[in-house]
Amino acid sequence: MASTVSRKPPNRRNLPPADLSHWQRDCQALPIEMLRRSLLQWYSAQGRTLPWRGETDPYRVWVSEIMLQQTQVKTVIPYYHRWLAAFPTVADLAQADRQQVLKLWEGLGYYARCRHLHQAAQIIVTEYGGQFPTTLEDVLTLPGIGRTTAGGILSAIANQPLAILDGNVKRVLARLTALPVPPARALGPLWELSSQLIDPNHGRDFNQAIMDLGATVCLPKQPLCLLCPWRSPCLAHTQNLQTQLPMREATAPLPHKNIGVAVIQNDQGQVLIDRRKEEGLLGGLWEFPGGKLEGDETVQACIQREIREELGIEIEVGDHLITLDHAYTHFRITLNVHYCRHLRGTPQPLESQEVRWVALDALRDYPFPKANGKIIDALLGGDR
Ligand code: SF4
Repeated sequence: MASTVSRKPPNRRNLPPADLSHWQRDCQALPIEMLRRSLLQWYSAQGRTLPWRGETDPYRVWVSEIMLQQTQVKTVIPYYHRWLAAFPTVADLAQADRQQVLKLWEGLGYYARCRHLHQAAQIIVTEYGGQFPTTLEDVLTLPGIGRTTAGGILSAIANQPLAILDGNVKRVLARLTALPVPPARALGPLWELSSQLIDPNHGRDFNQAIMDLGATVCLPKQPLCLLCPWRSPCLAHTQNLQTQLPMREATAPLPHKNIGVAVIQNDQGQVLIDRRKEEGLLGGLWEFPGGKLEGDETVQACIQREIREELGIEIEVGDHLITLDHAYTHFRITLNVHYCRHLRGTPQPLESQEVRWVALDALRDYPFPKANGKIIDALLGGDR
């Protein structure tokens, strides 16, 4: 399925600029000292207890920050513990095999994070003597680390007053100031505001406090304003706009792709899987081969064509195994999975890195995307 899940998110920098001069003037009048003090007081009483909170080992903080990108805390916690048990230091990670690293990340999604983490560990070992860099400039050169992640790490490990702007912070700031446009149209001004607000002496606590406020009080759908330390200066609250802000872009329905997928078995009962190329959304993971239906092609015809193009072999398409719907951030797919029988030809990795015949009971040793994991469940639970 080399080309079916490689679409990139739209480039937000292409959005038209908004006139925010009135809003920016109002931001200048914010009671900065009061906002800092009330947030830090709230945090000392109400801040969350998290496994990485208070951690000053840069490697552990960095792993937590990367896992938390686009993923909820409760999902991250077990992965964080398993990861540190397998790779306790940056040197352990740098030396690890890529497949082992991807297997540990399996199910957490956004696999580029994992590949970048591995790659950055190798850079830290070779170029920084195993020590995590301590300047913003150096940290930003590492793969997979943007400004928010860098600010999160350096503020946590060294109390540096570096602003962050993740989804939680954008929502809190948009409500606090009644931002009159969707946050994606005001990223520069929001960065300025976040930098203006951060407490120069308490960078660590301030960043963690504002993230906690977004995660536990200023919730996306039903903000708990009565519990909020910022309710008196918050413009969304005073104007009763808290459930209408932040403003959203009008969104088009997600594009949908219909995919034919082959579970190809040989006479020994082994199954054929292939490993995706390194780049792209699911790069480096294993999958069952297949591809997108073209025109009014049937699923069976699609599978036969794709297998010929991807692997250079002939197969017979047999019974239906399972149909699965799966949503990625920017598109949805339906996987129409069929049992297939290998007829002739030696499989070649024409559109992948590698192909392999694998015994059924060894399938779970390989890192697969989540939707393929359900195919394995169906296959192992089936009675063929
Ligand atoms: S008062 Fe309500 S809307 Fe404003 S920051 Fe607090 S929780 Fe969010």
